[in-house]
Amino acid sequence: MNLHEYQSKVRFGRFGIPVPMGKVATTPQQAYEIAREIGTTVVVKAQVLAGGRGKAGGVKLARTPDEAEQVANQILGMKIKGLTVRKVLIDPAANIGTEIYLGVTNDRAAGRPVMMASSEGGVEIEQVAHDKPNAIIREHIDPFLGLRDYQARNLASGINLPREHWKAFTKIAHNLFTTYMQSDATLAEINPLVITKEGQLIALDGKMSIDDNALFRQTELAEMRDIDAEPKEVIQARAAGLSYVKLDGQIGCMVNGAGLAMTTMDMTKLYGGENIGPANFLDIGGGAQADKVAAALRIILSDPNVRSILFNIFGGITRCDEVARGILQALSEVPSELPMIVRLNGTNAEEGRAIIQNASISNLYYADTLTEAAQKAVAAAKGEL
Ligand code: GDP
Ligand code: MN
Repeated sequence: MNLHEYQSKVRFGRFGIPVPMGKVATTPQQAYEIAREIGTTVVVKAQVLAGGRGKAGGVKLARTPDEAEQVANQILGMKIKGLTVRKVLIDPAANIGTEIYLGVTNDRAAGRPVMMASSEGGVEIEQVAHDKPNAIIREHIDPFLGLRDYQARNLASGINLPREHWKAFTKIAHNLFTTYMQSDATLAEINPLVITKEGQLIALDGKMSIDDNALFRQTELAEMRDIDAEPKEVIQARAAGLSYVKLDGQIGCMVNGAGLAMTTMDMTKLYGGENIGPANFLDIGGGAQADKVAAALRIILSDPNVRSILFNIFGGITRCDEVARGILQALSEVPSELPMIVRLNGTNAEEGRAIIQNASISNLYYADTLTEAAQKAVAAAKGEL
């Protein structure tokens, strides 16, 4: 789960990282009021769960409350990377001298957190990693020892930070690491961390991702989830208890079990290639009751790229005949003309097959093996079935 900038910065502030004292507005009038309270030049910032807002025109300075109102009016409702802006953060503008990057994430290969710093702040870190990999300084952190002072100093000297800022930088690095650990985060990032012309260090932008598996014990963070800011199908999938990840292919995959779902994706890609391959990862979990299948079907059908649908179900405790009935019921609830290929294996597969075939639905095909199913799904997507 990703936090908005304003949510991340409130959290940073609570852990002792200096942040601008801003407020969120949902209307241009509110933006006017907040800018008037602040009383200096402000920066109006789109709150969407995506980076690169500055480049997209979602971060703008405003000298007066009237200007803040106008700018907020432009930014609210704007789309950035497909996401509609519904909130803006109004922060007192900073007088930027230097922009630094500072972030913590999990290094899976190393099996521990890594803190990264770069003198190339304000640019997305992925871009820096690509263009100037040497400009990123890394320190792996022992989770039991925490960030050591010498490590913070290594980062400071690695980015050629002037000595007079080392004390403030070290404190921010420690506090950022604490925020990261205490939040069960997978990412805590300040980009840019600026040195103002007055010589203060301040976190101008903040980004945090929280491990979904820890939300049960991070109740305060879990409540911050902004339903409006997430893509519709992600919200629907979560509500139905489905694991869904949208991809760019044309074959909608409906599978029970994550491993089988991965295999199904591999097989469609093997026979269909980049374009025709999987349109999604979808694990409908155990049971595969009609309502769940119907919910999954609605989500798959909401993707305009989908040209065919592949059901790949292994019947274990759930019997294939039950699943077949669930599929038919779901199809009656969510009618579609798209070709659908069903492959059932495991307990009562024969009975399941009979149910699918006896239904005599013209766009519903049966396959005995996964190879056959993947080939048929690819052919169907090409309009050749
Ligand atoms: P992002 O593009 O989504 O990462 O949004 P940021 O919050 O990082 O803002 C993008 C850029 O806008 C920053 O790198 C700064 O150069 C600029 N910016 C943001 N806040 C201020 C501010 O208070 N004053 C000034 N002068 N520039 C700012
Ligand atoms: Mn940024």
